Amino acid sequence: MTPVLFTGIGQLVTNDPALGAGPLGTIDGAALLIDAGRVAWAGPAAAAPAAAGATIVDAGGRAVVPGFVDSHTHAVFAGERSAEFAARMSGRPYTAGGIATTVAATRRASDGELAANLGRIAAEAAASGTTTIECKSGYGLRVEDEERCLRLARRVTAETTFLGAHVVPPEYAGRADDYVRLVCTAMLDACAPHARWIDVFCDRGAFDGDQAAEILRAGGRRGLAGRVHAGQLGPGPGVRVAAEAGAASADHCTHLSGADVDLLATAPLVATLLPACDFSTRAPYPDARRLLDAGVTVALATDCNPGSSFTTSMPLCIALAVREMGMTPGEALLAATAGGAKALRRDDIGRLSPGTRGDLVVLDAPSYIFLAYRPGVALVESVWRAGERVPNRA
Ligand SMILES: [Zn+2]
Repeated sequence: MTPVLFTGIGQLVTNDPALGAGPLGTIDGAALLIDAGRVAWAGPAAAAPAAAGATIVDAGGRAVVPGFVDSHTHAVFAGERSAEFAARMSGRPYTAGGIATTVAATRRASDGELAANLGRIAAEAAASGTTTIECKSGYGLRVEDEERCLRLARRVTAETTFLGAHVVPPEYAGRADDYVRLVCTAMLDACAPHARWIDVFCDRGAFDGDQAAEILRAGGRRGLAGRVHAGQLGPGPGVRVAAEAGAASADHCTHLSGADVDLLATAPLVATLLPACDFSTRAPYPDARRLLDAGVTVALATDCNPGSSFTTSMPLCIALAVREMGMTPGEALLAATAGGAKALRRDDIGRLSPGTRGDLVVLDAPSYIFLAYRPGVALVESVWRAGERVPNRA
């Protein structure tokens, strides 16, 4: 693979304070060398190494930021729920039950249909600057359907998450404990080979704290690290369960007690905030300022799914986090890159410092601030993953 030397970078965000200014490690007038898919050098253009044989890419004064890490999506599904969205926007409150609509469509879909839909979503995400995407199952809710959803997701990303415990499926109505037993036994056996993570929706209308803890323990015995949907619809035990299970991330975090915030600040647990979901469900936004001031590591992700957040746009999440959640543009970018990497326990992505993967976005803007300052505008000039340009969408 030919090395690539980026020159003429107006502003480089490295997310490595040792390389540049502030928490984002920004360097004005920078160059960046990618070799064998990894960052080989980053610094002021005047000090750039002679890279014989390298392909030269002139950024023309544009800003370059690390590729976005979308650490929370539900991208394997069939169908869409625009009518439900329209109904909700005319005043009907959102409940977890709408998931059953997507479960029925997903069960009916062929592998080819599911793979094609997932491929479109992954391409859409990449075009908006996402270079790492996590993908959950959770719309199969039968052993064979959860297994095939994860098998298909695995073709797109290594960050696959078994979410059999998304909601109790209709055929188990009133028998939630029987369903939990299935999730922890035959379903887990079938899914574990295709998954890195296990997740549980610990909220009202879904699974309680004891059930969630049992599911995370079962996953742990099969080598799957935990993540938890916590505090989306109301206060609950999700954050505590996540901390006790040694999970990597508690996601949503809209409704948090003081004890939850203390746990997030002290446990090695990332708070992953999903503002596009709150936007699309007209729900209150989580208080990111409170979390940051308490010392919590915050990630931003899309929650891409057809019911409550049908977007793949990390720039939208950044803009919402700044406008609605009290984050600065720098904090929001850090959360959408390094924060997501931490939520996936990855130290090879989310930064542009020597040794990390050459995942980056060239913005059609002079500064990363434009991501929040110019909301809704397509600012992605090009996307590079492991030093190779991601093709533009047809
Ligand atoms: Zn989710």
